[in-house]
Amino acid sequence: MNERDSEAVAAQLVAKGYTLAPSEKNADVILLNTCSVRDFAEKKAIGKMQNLAADVRKNRPEVVLGFLGCMAQSRGRELIDKLPDVDLVLGTQKFHRAAECLDEIITGAREKIVDVAEEENSEATIREHLLNGSAKTSVSAFVSIMQGCNQRCTFCIVPFTRGEERSRTIPDIVAECRELVSRGVKEITLLGQIVTSYGRRGGSGRGTKVESRAPAPLLPSTLDLRPSTIKSPFVQLLDAVHEIDGLERIRFTSPHPKGYGDDLIDAYARLPKLVESAHLPVQSGSDRVLKLMHRGYARKRFLGIIEKLRRAKPDIGITTDIIVGFPGETETDFEETLSLAREVEFDNAYIFKYSQRRDTPAAEMPDQVPQKVREDRNRRLLELVNGIAARKYDAFIGRQVQILVEGPSRKNPARYTGRTRCNRIVLFDGGARHQGRLMDVKITRTGSFTLYGDPAIMNL
Ligand code: SF4
Repeated sequence: MNERDSEAVAAQLVAKGYTLAPSEKNADVILLNTCSVRDFAEKKAIGKMQNLAADVRKNRPEVVLGFLGCMAQSRGRELIDKLPDVDLVLGTQKFHRAAECLDEIITGAREKIVDVAEEENSEATIREHLLNGSAKTSVSAFVSIMQGCNQRCTFCIVPFTRGEERSRTIPDIVAECRELVSRGVKEITLLGQIVTSYGRRGGSGRGTKVESRAPAPLLPSTLDLRPSTIKSPFVQLLDAVHEIDGLERIRFTSPHPKGYGDDLIDAYARLPKLVESAHLPVQSGSDRVLKLMHRGYARKRFLGIIEKLRRAKPDIGITTDIIVGFPGETETDFEETLSLAREVEFDNAYIFKYSQRRDTPAAEMPDQVPQKVREDRNRRLLELVNGIAARKYDAFIGRQVQILVEGPSRKNPARYTGRTRCNRIVLFDGGARHQGRLMDVKITRTGSFTLYGDPAIMNL
């Protein structure tokens, strides 16, 4: 989300006549878009700003320094009190105001600006793209479909920093996707804090019709899947985006297991452009901890979703997020997380040591788990997850997979990089002629979370 928000702000500034500086050393304006999900991210942003103030601002006092995003939203003026070199603090509903605020500061109309107020329709303001900035972004683009979250998981600061759920309308989102495809984009990732709640609550897209009937599912009749008759607003959006000619692939992130209904599982079977990839944050394998987290589902329900997804799409890549050391998590609870990871065999898992966030209910819960125990559980789970992932990567050797070629590899420009439909990165010896193409490659070997492919004998 932050990457997408930063891109939109940069595109809005470019449209106003700014140019992107090659480095912060010669930039006249430096904006840090911040994350509050973990304490570490906040500390890093503050440390970075202190360095900028000491290095850049000291030599060039005219440089404008600003904080955007979640930490700006949650801390507001406190940031300027703590770091007097900061000129601008813009919250998560104010990204689109960056250009006008900078004008005011640069012309001297205002010295400092802090704006973290709510703004109606702000969910529809993240729409500009910088497609010419990098070769990769012209193939694949993120589209923000909603902002905020009403789930209020007890560990999470997002409902405080991003506000209530607000969705854009389907026509508005489809128009943005069409425009991207007309500029060469082949793959779109629909973005939101909780995309499975799209259209259910606030914003201009609220109340998207839900009475539409889904066609009969295209799943083999031997599968015991309950046919879905009602399509959620999110699945209606997937249907609408799927209609766009020239678009090859659709992804989305992040969904919530609670919203993973049969209509969405049917969508994987019905919509060929919806790729076989699902990031389903489970957070814990223990029902007791899931309840303390206020996640709204139990282990059995989560495992049921995975089973249905794999029946619908046997090759689907499934990744997850897991928090270890949540307050009150016992060794038995943690072992249930280990057993869930063994049972599901995730293709990858992002594991986080629980981080206390101020103003969240979990920060006040009794039985906070000591840091040493959090670290130990983190290590044990990581070992398990990485071992399973490595085995699953090795199973690709000798297989032929379809990739969408994104561009030259960052580490080695002689190599090109693409992604499989199940979201694995593939490197191969390629050239500019492969850029933006869907092509088949044969996997010859694996590296750390990377596949190496050989396109030589395939459809060149
Ligand atoms: S669903 Fe996700 S964004 Fe929403 S409160 Fe829970 S963890 Fe945070």
